[in-house]
Amino acid sequence: MADPKKRYDIIIRKLRENGQKITPQRMAIVKILSESKGHPSVETIHARIKQDFPTMSLATVYRNIVVIKSLGEVLELGFPDGSNRYDGNQPAPHPHVICIKCHKIVDPDLDSLDEMTEEVSRETGFKILNHRLDFFGICSVCMAEKG
Ligand SMILES: [Zn+2]
Ligand SMILES: [Zn+2]
Repeated sequence: MADPKKRYDIIIRKLRENGQKITPQRMAIVKILSESKGHPSVETIHARIKQDFPTMSLATVYRNIVVIKSLGEVLELGFPDGSNRYDGNQPAPHPHVICIKCHKIVDPDLDSLDEMTEEVSRETGFKILNHRLDFFGICSVCMAEKG
């Protein structure tokens, strides 16, 4: 996991460089994204923001995320049911492990990823630019609850 404080500073600086106003609401969204504990959805971020900014709408949170995404500073994890989740702590593509029961998402630390990318490239002749690698399963908490 990247240092949330550093990620926060980088995202705020990028916003500034792109002529975006840094409002307290925007700072609060960036703070949550830079920590990205559990890869929050827009709804989760909105619920947290509302504690400090009760008038802030879901649409405003969404618009802010779109801006930050356009700067390449948040990774969007799209799912077929539309329940997108966000990682502002690690905006570069990386593998995820997803619990199919509680929808927890964690970042595994894989040593073999570079090797795998090279193998894919060798195998197909492609120059690899990006990847999506999701592992689906049942987390240890959900496993303990079964039965
Ligand atoms: Zn689970
Ligand atoms: Zn992640």
